[in-house]
Amino acid sequence: MQPTELKTDVLVIGGGIGGCRAALRALEKGCDVLLAEKAVIGRAGPMTFVHSQFAPWRLTDDEKLLWMREFVEASNYLADQEWLDVLLTEAPDRIEELVQLGVPYERDAEGRLKYTTSRGHKVGKTINVDGKIVMEILRRELRRQGVTLLEKVMMTDLLTSDGRYPTGGEVIGAVGFHIRTGEPLVIRAKAVILNTGPLYPKIHFSYVDGVTGEGHRMAFHVGAELAGMEFTQYASWSYWEDKFSTPGQAKIQGIGARFINAQGEEFMWRYDPEWGNLSSLYRVARGIITENMEGRGPCYVDFRHCAEEDIEMLLRVVPTLALALKEFDIDIRTRPLKTTPFMAIGMGTSGGVRVDTWSRTTVPGLYAVGTVTCLPVIMSGNSGSGHSTFSNVGGYRAGEDAARWAKRIRHMPKPVSAQLRDILAETFAPLTRRGPIRPSDVWAAVGEVTCETSFALLKDAKRIEQTRRAVRAIGEQLLRRVSAPDPHELTKALEARSYVEMVELCCLAYDVRQESRGEHFRADFPYRDDVQWLRWVVLRKGADGEVMVSTPSVPFDRYPIRPERRERIPSPFPIPGS
Ligand SMILES: Cc1cc2nc3c(=O)[nH]c(=O)nc-3n(C[C@H](O)[C@H](O)[C@H](O)COP(=O)(O)OP(=O)(O)OC[C@H]3O[C@@H](n4cnc5c(N)ncnc54)[C@H](O)[C@@H]3O)c2cc1C
Repeated sequence: MQPTELKTDVLVIGGGIGGCRAALRALEKGCDVLLAEKAVIGRAGPMTFVHSQFAPWRLTDDEKLLWMREFVEASNYLADQEWLDVLLTEAPDRIEELVQLGVPYERDAEGRLKYTTSRGHKVGKTINVDGKIVMEILRRELRRQGVTLLEKVMMTDLLTSDGRYPTGGEVIGAVGFHIRTGEPLVIRAKAVILNTGPLYPKIHFSYVDGVTGEGHRMAFHVGAELAGMEFTQYASWSYWEDKFSTPGQAKIQGIGARFINAQGEEFMWRYDPEWGNLSSLYRVARGIITENMEGRGPCYVDFRHCAEEDIEMLLRVVPTLALALKEFDIDIRTRPLKTTPFMAIGMGTSGGVRVDTWSRTTVPGLYAVGTVTCLPVIMSGNSGSGHSTFSNVGGYRAGEDAARWAKRIRHMPKPVSAQLRDILAETFAPLTRRGPIRPSDVWAAVGEVTCETSFALLKDAKRIEQTRRAVRAIGEQLLRRVSAPDPHELTKALEARSYVEMVELCCLAYDVRQESRGEHFRADFPYRDDVQWLRWVVLRKGADGEVMVSTPSVPFDRYPIRPERRERIPSPFPIPGS
């Protein structure tokens, strides 16, 4: 099939909250904007699971420092404080704009926004709404205001001005295809904004689907820096009653639910004396697993003491949970919910494209927004609802700067034909293959290797190397032979390709960070090492395709908040056999 060629000033890839905000802002600044979304906005994508959003009001300087300190300490001091300053300053306006568009955030009896608590916040506050409604409103606005919307279009590769990966020039567009018809698309653009969401696997237990790291992969190949890839240990504990899983974890913690073991003992204080039941996803999952391993399981989440008003709000803003409880005839007011955790390689708190405060990547013409980035305000942190607000603010900024960039370019750049030919050949190769290996075989193989408990919980240099080799073998032996009889299977094959490539980079980053911090736990370095590791791990594709690693120190000389002491802090988790 001959590709259809389209042209636009600004191309946005992915329609989460950040992509929609970016598209609307670039349009407002006078650009033609095209948004390509793999699914249908408001029907898919992690933003449809969001229930609470970090919500600073217009803070005084003293308040701002307090809110910032909470984020920085929760990030184990790795947060980018310049970005945090932007977030805390601009979020009130970005939230107000959503209110003006009609987003129905929960209100108190006087009709004011109702501020609540969420995981990882004692000072900072959140506001609540079902994220699906936010996305439906944004989709309506995109159409009303004139953004060209291409839905069911998966973008796979970026085009560069010199036709090279990594590029010494600029990003000048992207290539993709319609996931139903298979029609190839070449979109020429003066600026490209990635908003393809976090890196997650397609595996049983996870209700997250379709965000498998294409944006990460595209950015990496053109030479953009990635950071925080070692914090991609996704942990979840919302697989309930051995039957169903739901979103809503941050809100569940926010309304004061307690984690109890089979003896009814509240155990999280043992593993996190500071945050207890408001602890991070990783620590809670790991706490539950430790209780189970030491014979005190199964574990439960107990809502019986929660206020009725809070339970009602939880069920309103997390309708999936309400539906499932109804279907299985469970009343959380009268009995605790059994919980089974799982771990996988996927965005825990960070892991993605490195961006500055204008959402610019390190490659000209390429921007990244939201959870495809390294989430610089969170890094190894524990904020239950900072992601969507970061995306909201970062999207607006990306749209504004991309419009500025696009206006400086007089002529629409033209793709280099050899690069385009190679991309199309590689993308559609699975359609031409015959053979028994299907994308689901790749997902099964990679799930088996990466979700294995000893790896997820007790990484050490040897296990990391074994996993890296196993993942590489999956790439070489399965991915290269995977066949796809139709565009639907082709989509899955390309999703698996991105995930496998990115997981190999995660393994590299796990190996580089020789300490335990946040979601990153090393059994051979079971302590947080503030002497050596107040650093970011940055990966970039080198000229010959090799991965270049750097570990820049966090620039505390520019930041208002600094650690008082630099010491090694032991992990609270036991290591079996040690
Ligand atoms: C279960 C769950 C609950 C969460 N709860 C909260 C919460 O309460 N509060 C909070 O702040 N955060 C929460 N998060 C984090 C949440 O993911 C982000 O806050 C939010 O989704 C940010 O959106 P985004 O702008 O990064 O885009 P996303 O919502 O991640 O959307 C990315 C979009 O890109 C599309 N896409 C992907 N690949 C391609 C491609 N190759 N081509 C075209 N399109 C593509 C996807 O289909 C998707 O629509 C939660 C995450 C999960 C998984």
